Amino acid sequence: MWINPYENRFNDDFMQIRSNFHTHAGQIDGCSVNTIADTTALYEKLGYGLLCISNHNRFTPMQQTNKPDMPMKFLDGYEHTCEQHMLCLGVNKEYDITLPYQDIIDDVNKNNGLVILCHPNWIREDFWTNESLLTLTDYSGIEIVNGVISRLEGSGIATKEWDMLLTAGKKVWGFGTDDYHWQSDAGKAFTMILSRLNSPDDCLKAINEGAHYASTGLKLVRLSVEGNRLYCEASRMIKTHLKNYTYRFYGKEGILLKEDFAPSSYCELKKEYGYIRIQVINEEGKMLWTQPVYVEQWFD
Ligand SMILES: [Zn+2]
Ligand SMILES: [Zn+2]
Repeated sequence: MWINPYENRFNDDFMQIRSNFHTHAGQIDGCSVNTIADTTALYEKLGYGLLCISNHNRFTPMQQTNKPDMPMKFLDGYEHTCEQHMLCLGVNKEYDITLPYQDIIDDVNKNNGLVILCHPNWIREDFWTNESLLTLTDYSGIEIVNGVISRLEGSGIATKEWDMLLTAGKKVWGFGTDDYHWQSDAGKAFTMILSRLNSPDDCLKAINEGAHYASTGLKLVRLSVEGNRLYCEASRMIKTHLKNYTYRFYGKEGILLKEDFAPSSYCELKKEYGYIRIQVINEEGKMLWTQPVYVEQWFD
């Protein structure tokens, strides 16, 4: 049996909430040069529904300012910054930097938050080593696309590491974030959450269920298992006359199972694939990455 994390999410009951969990703001250190007010206004203008101000080793209390009628809500969190970096989301405290990463992950989970490991390929290919990624457990996922690193050393993409983890049977989700430092960083990479509401609790629940995808500017319209096929359809975020997109279906070990250029596409579901994740690209180079649809027994 195949598990589809998006099952029954493409209907009027669910919104697609554009989110950024990785935002340096508030003039706390050299990384946060913009004020929280300016940063908030910028993300609201871009149509975001959820934002986390995530400064280095400093929790910024924002969730308490949420009001029901606000179009964009705040999620509490911070970027735990030691030798490696990780986003601790849904928590209202910082952890001592001498604590082992696993202890922090466990405590964040105990407090109903979640942890995302940051920019695995910043500066060098093993900013997070494969060994660490494989040894740590119970983190929610990794940044598979981190926007700021398109102007910094290394690479902001970490799909190779993601396939390595998924192939090893670790159910970790792929996230997109801006890692916003400058105003020009806003809106480059984001996570779309398919949730009924944009409250922090509802969004964290949807994330835990895998009902989200990473994007640099495309929207997922459909991802469904029907019979023995996995169907996918994406679109530009803004209305367009363009119809065709490149669809790439990847299975275990990151093997390209199928590539298509069409308005929508599908892939046969074969048990030996283990999981199937899809990358969609348009002519402007905008992309989205779905979470894996997977054989029930594939993950631990
Ligand atoms: Zn970082
Ligand atoms: Zn950062």
